[in-house]
Amino acid sequence: MNSFLQEQPLLKSQVLKGRYLTYSKIETLLSDFDLTQVGTSVKGLPIKALTIGNGPIKILMWSQMHGNETTSTKGIMDVMYFLKYNAAFLAPFTIQLLPMLNPDGAASYTRVNANGVDLNRDAVQHSQPETHALFEVYDVFQPDYCFNLHDQRTLFGVNGEPCMLSYLSPAADADKSITEARKQAMSIIGYMNESLQQHLSNHVGRYDDTYNPNCVGDCFQAKGTPTILFECGQSGQDYDRESTRKWFSFSVVEALKCIANNSFKPAIYNSIPEVKKSYVDVLIHHVPYHNTHTSVAIQYEEKLISNRIVFEPTLHSKGDLAMLNAHKIIDLNTFKAVSFDDLDDSAIIKKLSEMLDLTYYSH
Ligand SMILES: [Zn+2]
Repeated sequence: MNSFLQEQPLLKSQVLKGRYLTYSKIETLLSDFDLTQVGTSVKGLPIKALTIGNGPIKILMWSQMHGNETTSTKGIMDVMYFLKYNAAFLAPFTIQLLPMLNPDGAASYTRVNANGVDLNRDAVQHSQPETHALFEVYDVFQPDYCFNLHDQRTLFGVNGEPCMLSYLSPAADADKSITEARKQAMSIIGYMNESLQQHLSNHVGRYDDTYNPNCVGDCFQAKGTPTILFECGQSGQDYDRESTRKWFSFSVVEALKCIANNSFKPAIYNSIPEVKKSYVDVLIHHVPYHNTHTSVAIQYEEKLISNRIVFEPTLHSKGDLAMLNAHKIIDLNTFKAVSFDDLDDSAIIKKLSEMLDLTYYSH
């Protein structure tokens, strides 16, 4: 059996790059697969489902239900091409993938859909056409497993390291009972974590499991379908998240192996450390300010400008920030002649940004 990691750089889906991923950018790739239209977005874009394989184990996956979360779409298309050319690996499965559940949000690079609704808070109300599409596919397909594919913000860390990937077996009720479905999802996550740890030391976290019936994953878990939340995160300066994409898609392939081989080990899920909101994008120490020094923490704001994503520095906090972690740390000691006196916060950020070339442009 071929190794996914060897094949991944050669897959056709590698044409997908950068953080801005719209329906028109994936359309030609989708035509390499069996496709059906399962719904229409608020603004009239098609919601497509791709089907691959005809084995007995049915898995439903969906990506970009949050339009600005594109890493898992790039990664899951890598997995689809890998499966297309590895029939033996695919044999146990029938997989339905909705690669872009929120095509309007993808076009506007927003989390929410065109009505401003977070589709991952619409599992009870079913107020949006995109939600209808997903639930109808779920009802007709009756999956044995669900993979709910997302990106997380840059602010998550795990054990003092950046969190590149995090996973959750969502709660199925307010008591967070360990139902049979939840236990299976936990076991698969434990398996993925073991495989990932051979390549990434740390950098893998467990997402918060507070029950929210409005979340789609919690809802499907409560219906008894083992459901896994995948969150692609930030590590180092990889703002296009290409490294995250590789390890995310590797973990999906490992999850399929776990399911195919029935290797549901006793859950090591609970030993995976929980993610913490502990990171900023840039931390600048020794910024000279009124005869003393201060530290400045910067969080990027992602903006869609001329068809690409620009990461613009904004002020997160200022002061003694020794406890904060950052994806990039700069010490300004070498810029002694520069003065930041008499500047307000936004002017400080502007000056730092220009001096240090902090704005990042996605591919
Ligand atoms: Zn999300």
